[in-house]
Amino acid sequence: MTGIGNTSAPADADQCAPARVGDELPLLRERGQRQVFCGLAGIVWLHRKIQDAFFLVVGSRTCAHLLQSAAGVMIFAEPRFGTAILQDRDLAGMADCNDELDRVVAELLARRPDIGTLFLVGSCPSEVIKLDLDTAAERLSREHEGRVRILAYSGSGIETTFTQGEDTCLTALVPEMPASDDPALLVVGTLPDVVEDQFRRLFEQLGIGPVHFLPARQAGELPPVGAGTKLLAAQPFVGDTIAALGKRGAELIAAPYPFGIEGTRAWLGAAADAFGVSQGKVDDVCEAPIARAERGLSRYRQQLGGRRISFLPDSQLEIPLARFLARECGMELAEVGVPYLDRRMMGAELELLPRPERLSEGQDLEVQLDRLRADRPDLTVCGLGLANPLEAEGLTTKWSIELVFSPVHGFDQAADLAELFARPLNRRARLAF
Ligand code: SF4
Repeated sequence: MTGIGNTSAPADADQCAPARVGDELPLLRERGQRQVFCGLAGIVWLHRKIQDAFFLVVGSRTCAHLLQSAAGVMIFAEPRFGTAILQDRDLAGMADCNDELDRVVAELLARRPDIGTLFLVGSCPSEVIKLDLDTAAERLSREHEGRVRILAYSGSGIETTFTQGEDTCLTALVPEMPASDDPALLVVGTLPDVVEDQFRRLFEQLGIGPVHFLPARQAGELPPVGAGTKLLAAQPFVGDTIAALGKRGAELIAAPYPFGIEGTRAWLGAAADAFGVSQGKVDDVCEAPIARAERGLSRYRQQLGGRRISFLPDSQLEIPLARFLARECGMELAEVGVPYLDRRMMGAELELLPRPERLSEGQDLEVQLDRLRADRPDLTVCGLGLANPLEAEGLTTKWSIELVFSPVHGFDQAADLAELFARPLNRRARLAF
């Protein structure tokens, strides 16, 4: 297996059934070979965000190489992630992996007193040999009680997309969160610190509070959750976390995602409604940042307007970004492909999404590539593994993973978000001369 997961779907593979979203939008549902990055990629942005956490992948050399190359540019003297490599003897069931894991964890904790929370991250190899990391985390937590919190989650590439690694990580944190039924807003999904600070200021000006973020900057500072907690999703791929928080009594606020001016205004407006703040107040608070964002966006509208774009299924950001690019930048939507369609998380977005030529869920790679070649859009958003071959065929591409690594939420990043799509088009135009 390679770092770029190339996994197959369940038993109904090769079926291609038409479906409908609401009354209007037909959905092409596909099952077949997929090409996506695996959930270990989430460690790259999660370890940057949660500053006292260490991510120990229990996997193969391939997993270690994936992590090194994905996060390589951010390795400082002491990275806060590593891989406990399963050897051939482990994989053949000839050694007790648990003994080895206990030894590795003990050594790591002795060497790194800065670790407050240790995540044992499952991988394809650990899942294939059925190494039970949940039980291992419980055992190790007892052993190191009072010193460190130890949790387990899966980052494997088996039947998942790369952003689901964050969802499984955050879901693992939910049972650890303290209980409180006091009214509060909880923003769910990793945001860069600079964006989190911008949103904190906007919520403060709106008079909404207290506001907490999951994940928090310190894993030890977990926000409370209970019947008074209203959830506002900042990322569309945290559906399992939202469900787990719902079981603790919290309630999801239906809203589009804060991409672009319109999405951010609607996201803040939905939170305001939930907290009894008037839309007039939201307009007042948003007036200056919207004016700034409008000025920044205007030149990208000229560059992007009228250009056709396709999204291959990869990150779960496809629908919100397509909505932003079509409604605010004037792009035309060819195919919008999503790894899976979570209607609870995507309902408000689907109401805003201009009708694409095609909305698809899942992937049957070769069939989808044939459609892409027939569509020949001006820009294709896809995974890293597909970008170079498609560029070689003369298609212009954008790596979807870059959209998760970059600060793109909120008013002040709206122009930066548009720029990420304009850049490959400009590069292609320069190469043409
Ligand atoms: S978790 Fe699976 S897909 Fe990801 S690098 Fe390891 S073996 Fe490959």
